[in-house]
Amino acid sequence: MCIFCSIVNKEIPNYTIYEDESVLAFLDVNPTAKGHTLVIPKTHYDSFIECDSKDLHHVMVVAQKIAKKMESELPCDGINVLTNIRQAAGQSVNHFHIHLIPRYKDQDVVQIEFKPIDAVDFNEIIKKIGF
Ligand code: AMP
Ligand code: ZN
Repeated sequence: MCIFCSIVNKEIPNYTIYEDESVLAFLDVNPTAKGHTLVIPKTHYDSFIECDSKDLHHVMVVAQKIAKKMESELPCDGINVLTNIRQAAGQSVNHFHIHLIPRYKDQDVVQIEFKPIDAVDFNEIIKKIGF
């Protein structure tokens, strides 16, 4: 069984931020920032891609609720909301989860960097992934 399913089943302890019948949010055990939180559906989906739309919606609603509280109560200056899909993108736990990473202007140690790549054929990409 996956480690997050074990957390849902209360076989592994966690610092719970929020819980209801279908969603659990808890502190990341290896925080990259103070308050780093994970929001997961209780049902196992390997990643964002496999997640059922009802659970996906509820996970995002809960993530927004927590983000609001982080901003006002931590407080923090910004928040990154992200999910990794597959090992190539940095996914290490194959149970869909949203990272909420609070950011602090005066102690910013998180590095999320978008470096531009060389020439891209935008039309070619549109042909592939446009709807
Ligand atoms: P990712 O690399 O996107 O799959 O993120 C997985 C996250 O889960 C990492 O940031 C880990 O620190 C975190 N993690 C792994 N095991 C636990 C655990 N038992 N309790 C809380 N967070 C965990
Ligand atoms: Zn799982």
